[in-house]
Amino acid sequence: MSDANPSSPADSSCLTDGQTLWVDGRALEVRISARRSRLGLTVERDGALILRVPPTCPPERAEAFVRSGSRWIDDKLRLREERQPLHPTRKLSDGEIHRYLGRDYRLLYVDEPGAPVRLVAGRLRMDQATAADPVRGRRALADWYTRSGLRWTRGRLQPWAARMDVDEPRIEVRDVGRRWGTHRPGRIALHWATFQLPFHLIDYVIAHELAHVRVSGHGPDYWRLLRRAMPECARWKTELDEMGRRVWMGDVAER
Ligand SMILES: [Zn+2]
Repeated sequence: MSDANPSSPADSSCLTDGQTLWVDGRALEVRISARRSRLGLTVERDGALILRVPPTCPPERAEAFVRSGSRWIDDKLRLREERQPLHPTRKLSDGEIHRYLGRDYRLLYVDEPGAPVRLVAGRLRMDQATAADPVRGRRALADWYTRSGLRWTRGRLQPWAARMDVDEPRIEVRDVGRRWGTHRPGRIALHWATFQLPFHLIDYVIAHELAHVRVSGHGPDYWRLLRRAMPECARWKTELDEMGRRVWMGDVAER
């Protein structure tokens, strides 16, 4: 450790706020907190290790603490790795496979300027003039998911709302960023990319947002309500977390 100021030997016996502490090849960012008496370690979303220590903490104490938590750190980092998004990019090329409601469909270039994307007889027909421009092609496909998803959802909303005894909110399908769905009073929005998932996971997203009509946040009351309507919800949540990482979110690659 070389972060301590060599010109003031008194300081070198304690950790300083913001310094990097190296322990067995791991870099830890030190944060001094006047209110702490014990040490604490967190793994941040970006994988950074933050070590929170009380004032006048000797490095030896911090190093021993980090070493004692070595396995915990490994587990946390591995878990983080396993949950990294793996969203693919697509080329929108002729014959490429795209998913809708959990099933595979091949893109088929056709000459149909009036209908940029249509699903007919098991083929996702994309107008070739639209496909020629990746930006247009991507927008046309996202629009198609939006329209088809909205139509599909209209039939699914009512049974779930009835099961939870909540008023049926207005529904819209659009890009809602990194989430599958959102809720605000009287209105639910689902991400267009959700409709690549199998039925039961889309149902989970719908039911999840509908439960927010009654209960906001994800406390015990929330999960009780959702579990009563959808007993498998915990399983579907795990499945969504896993499968959702691999869903195409609209990124188009160079051809
Ligand atoms: Zn939620």
